[in-house]
Amino acid sequence: MFELADIPLPFEYIDVGIRRDYLLKERDKAYKAEATVDCNNGCRACGANMIGRCEQF
Ligand code: SF4
Repeated sequence: MFELADIPLPFEYIDVGIRRDYLLKERDKAYKAEATVDCNNGCRACGANMIGRCEQF
């Protein structure tokens, strides 16, 4: 039996700095039809800032 979290995510091979655990959390929220507030008013710690891919840092 496999865990859903072990399956590669679409486009995961493209590294834009967003952490895998963040993407999994966002996927879980999407399954529950929960939205994530725009990060212009507060960083959601996606990880893009760690490799200079975030324009807010
Ligand atoms: S502000 Fe930057 S690092 Fe924070 S959630 Fe938005 S894109 Fe990601």
